[in-house]
Formats: sequence, C-alpha cells, structure tokens
Amino acid sequence: MMRYISTRGQDGSLSFNDVLLAGLAPDGGLYVPEEYPQLAWKHVKLMQGWSYHQIAFHIIKLFVGDDINDAALRTIINKAYDPRLFGSLDITPIQPLSRGVGLLKLSNGPTLAFKDVALQLLANLMDYVLEERDEYLNILGATSGDTGSAAEEAVRGRKRLRIFMLSPYGRMTPFQQMQMYRINDPSVFNLVPDGNFDDCQSAVKLVNADADFKKKYSIGAVNSINWARIMAQVVYYVYGYTRVITSPHQRLTVSVPSGNFGNALAAYVAGKMGLKIDVIVATNENDVLTEFFNEGRYRIRKGDEVIKTQSPSMDIASASNFERFMFDQVDRDPQRLKKLWEELSTKGEFSWNIQNEPNSTVRFRSGTATDDEVTKTIKLIFDRTGLIIDPHTAVAAKVFYDRQGSFNKGPSLIAETAQPAKFEDAIERALGFKMMIPEAYRHLEGSDERIIRINETDSVAIANTAKAIIEANVRK
Ligand SMILES: *Cc1c(COP(=O)(O)O)cnc(C)c1O
Repeated sequence: MMRYISTRGQDGSLSFNDVLLAGLAPDGGLYVPEEYPQLAWKHVKLMQGWSYHQIAFHIIKLFVGDDINDAALRTIINKAYDPRLFGSLDITPIQPLSRGVGLLKLSNGPTLAFKDVALQLLANLMDYVLEERDEYLNILGATSGDTGSAAEEAVRGRKRLRIFMLSPYGRMTPFQQMQMYRINDPSVFNLVPDGNFDDCQSAVKLVNADADFKKKYSIGAVNSINWARIMAQVVYYVYGYTRVITSPHQRLTVSVPSGNFGNALAAYVAGKMGLKIDVIVATNENDVLTEFFNEGRYRIRKGDEVIKTQSPSMDIASASNFERFMFDQVDRDPQRLKKLWEELSTKGEFSWNIQNEPNSTVRFRSGTATDDEVTKTIKLIFDRTGLIIDPHTAVAAKVFYDRQGSFNKGPSLIAETAQPAKFEDAIERALGFKMMIPEAYRHLEGSDERIIRINETDSVAIANTAKAIIEANVRK
C-alpha cells in the first residue's frame, strides 16, 4: 500500500487522496512516496506495445494504490487525456529532430503548454475524490502567465471545484491574457489587481495565513508542489522511454527546460523507479539549478536579482520542487534536510556535494542558455529542420547540443514545453516573422473579457478584496 511522508518529518504517513487535497504538508514540507515503486525491464518491454493511456494507468496505479478503484481511475485518465483535448491519441508524441534525437512534445494540451498534462489529471482526480467525500474545494492562486490558464482550463466545468486566480493587470502577453480572461465558465474567476506578480503572490499567502478563513471556505491550491502533478509527469518519461529504448543496456538522455524543477524531478523519479536516465537540467540566465549541479551551491536569488528573459516560465528565484530531490540526497533524514533549509533561510544558500552514485540508474548534467543563444537556437533549428520551437524548448535544445558529448551517446529526447505561437515576439526576433494565433483560439478573439478588476496595489488591500470576492462566490 503506497503511503506518503513529509520531507520535514511530520509524524505518520498519508494515503494518496489525502496528499492530493492537502498540497503542502502542515509542517511546511513536501510529500514524497515512502518508497519509489520499481519497474523492471520486463515491465518496460511489455509497455512498448501499450498506448499512452495504458501506460498512464499502470504508472498512476502504482502511486494511487487502493485509494481509487481501477474502473474509476481508468475513467479519470481517459477523461483527462481525451485525444480531442491533446490533439492525438499519443498525448505526448515524439517528433524526430536529428539523428537519435527527438522532441517529446508535451505542449499539445488545451492551453498549448506542458502544464496541461499534469493539471488536467489533477482536476479530474480532485473532482472525483471531492465527490466521493461530498466536499468542495476553492482553489486560490497567483499567476504571471502559463500556470493560470492551464489551471483555469482544467477546473472549468468541474462540479466540485472553483478557481480564483490573481494576475497582474496588463503584465502578461496578449495571448496569455486572452487565454485566461476570455474563459466563460461559472467556476472560473479572474481577479486582476493593479499590482505586479509579487503583490498577487503575497496576497495569496496572506489569505492562506488566515487559518479560519481557509478552513471555512475550503481554500486549496494546485501549485507545482502537489505530488500528483509530479506523478502525472512521470508518465510521459516512461512513455518516451518505451518508445525509443530497445535494450536494457541503453540509457535515455532527456533535456528538460527547468524552472521550479517539477519537470526534471519527474524524470529523476522515473530514474529512481529503475529506468536508466541521464537528465540534463537546462536553465535560462536564472541559473539557480545549474549553479547547484555544476558547482554544488544552492543559492536562492533575491526578488530584484531575477532576470526577465524570453522564457518567463523559468524566471525563478528558487526551485520549489528541489526539496524533494534534496530529501533523497540527505538519505531521507528530515533533521538533516531541516538544517539545510534553516541555513537557506538565514544565509540564502548552502553548499552540497552531490551524490552521483556510480550504480545509480539516474545521473544529472546541467547547463545554461542565454537569451541570445535562445534566439540563435530557434533560428538554427528552423533553418535545419523547418520546425519552430518556443524559447523554453530552445533553452533545452541549446544545452543539450552543448552537453551531448558528456554522456554515452544513446537515444535522446528534448522536452518541448510550450508551443511557439504563445511567444510571438521571441519568434519574430529569431525568424523575422509573426506566428498566427492557433486555430483553436481564434474564436476567443471576438469574445468578451471576464475579469474582476481590483484597484489596489498593496498586497494587504488586494488580499482583503480577494477574500470578499471569494466569500460571495465560493462553492460550499
Ligand atoms: C513551467 C514551465 C517550465 C518549467 O518547468 P518546471 O517544472 O517549473 O521546472 C518550462 N517551460 C514552460 C513552457 C513552462 O510553462
């Protein structure tokens, strides 16, 4: 039976459904499985003939245990990964890029970014568990771009969920604004204050700090620290592995454009489950993770140190999922982990000798691509293959071609995390032309914005107004 523990050592363990609804552990830690389920080569071989949905069921079942019965879990997976939502039966198809190298296309979901893969499943799982418990959940979040639209798109039409998403007025791309603000669904509320993203984020923290309010209105979150999101992402690495690896002696290299370390962590978990994987952690100029993997120093950035790049979803000051990786590095000793995080909060950094055990099935490399290199890479790949990649994927491609030689040559996949049409300025800079708005979105151009403006810039004032709006509109 699969149980979950907190990285900060809280007593006892939880089952999957409780972890799904809890998000962050009450002691401030992140939930991780008590142990990683194992996949032997014979399982991999079997899965080579399976569909994405069959592989998803097998992997997710290992993490859900008996919390959801098989028939219900199959229905949830089939609903989340409806080929009509993801454009193909493959869900995350592989497109050949160069000899032995493919793009693992994770961005074919409804909002054209890889976050759909996890959030579509998460919303369906939550809706099911809430229905079973006869409870409701009101999701509160802040976004500067992609997470907001993927979360709103996943929540729309669900019976037991509502979403209240704060976003800074006029600070997202026109396409992102269109994706969020023109969703017409009674479960979706866009709260749009005058402040910036940090003000929105602080307001969310303030609301969450009011324990009575949080409990009374069942306030929840879908941020990237939810274990179920990592679980959903493990599936496409297993899927990719079964499609390109043909012998138990081969290793798979994956290059992952990284910000909060959720996506790369999922590749690591697939490795901990027994797949032979080399993970390239690719960062933009906000190179917190590259500094860690190459120099053994984890240093979080101050707010004004964060650089604005062409790959905004990777402009981070710290990597929220990194704690899960470090938990394994300290041999799963919560006391040692807490010591490091105390050091982080007082000094802003800690040093660490990475244990790259020689027999481990998973190994890391890391590198950074500058904005200039991103522009050149988009152009280079377009000239060579005719494919247009987005600036996030270009970070992974650039670092991959730089670091490829440092691994045994084997089949490789570059994670494609967004569609280029979402980043028309970056594409125009690289290629000299504008991309058209994708077909599926054109109908939104003519529809009205549905937003609630909050004429405040102060996070306390934003939080209070947000509370009033939530009170008036919650499901209970
Ligand atoms: C969120 C995001 C990333 C970063 O993924 P993490 O899991 O936070 O490392 C990369 N690319 C795109 C397009 C994203 O939306």
